[in-house]
Amino acid sequence: IVSLLFTSHPGGGSGIGRAVCQRFASEGASVVVADISEDSANETLGSLSHDLKGQAHMAAVVDVSSKQSLDKLVTSIQAHYFQPPSVCVNAAGITQDDFLLRMEEEQFDRVIQVNLKGSFLVTQAVAQALVACGAPKGSIITVGSIVGKVGNIGQANYASSKAGVEGLTRTAAKELSRFGIRCNCVLPGFILTPMTDKVPEKVITKMTSLVPMGRMGEPAEVADVCAFLASDDSRYVTGISIEVTGGLFIG
Ligand code: NAP
Repeated sequence: IVSLLFTSHPGGGSGIGRAVCQRFASEGASVVVADISEDSANETLGSLSHDLKGQAHMAAVVDVSSKQSLDKLVTSIQAHYFQPPSVCVNAAGITQDDFLLRMEEEQFDRVIQVNLKGSFLVTQAVAQALVACGAPKGSIITVGSIVGKVGNIGQANYASSKAGVEGLTRTAAKELSRFGIRCNCVLPGFILTPMTDKVPEKVITKMTSLVPMGRMGEPAEVADVCAFLASDDSRYVTGISIEVTGGLFIG
């Protein structure tokens, strides 16, 4: 398999996308590590195992909020592997937190552009490539957030974008099933990554106390669920969201 994966920023530790790349590489996939930062993508590339014969990873730069950038990426993947990615995990995402009463229009627009429009463009670009080459199957996984379901103070933009990707995924699942393409979301709760490094200590302590399992999650725990959704073990699963939260905000 060729997997197109969006890595997270390795500078501050191991984000979710990077853990996904590592897990998929350990399963024998050829992994395309794509990130807005070339250095981050290359750093993740350097951490991937390539013990299996025929495994060939590559790193690429992409801005998921740009259709042109994604088209370029898919074209370069097809030139490199002679096929589009059969699995795609979109873990690119940003936050620009502020209280609703103070949030600037630009903060709202930028988060929607990367998180929601970016998920649409990634899903569309990969699905178009798979359909055009007549691939028998594909699995597209979008990283949402539990916050899209329950809301979060200071995250009107982010929560809206993450609620949106679930609607996008359910629609994509309905439209793309006839082409053998499955589309699902994972909804992480509170995971130790560079993104949560920005959260103040006192908020971390409060949030952790709300998690029934009593701790934050590891990026690898989200990657394991992505591996299930990418594999044939989930071949009759599409249009769903799996919460990876340690029980945080159970209904
Ligand atoms: P992260 O380490 O910040 O990963 C996000 C990655 O996306 C970064 O490497 C970032 O690159 C990249 N990125 C940002 N804008 C991009 C763009 N326009 N095009 C391509 N790549 C872009 O954070 P993470 O926690 O692993 O987040 C991964 C996903 O999980 C995100 O969608 C996030 O919303 C979601 N999530 C995380 C948590 C959590 O608790 N950590 C919880 C729920 C959901 P740069 O850093 O170089 O800008």
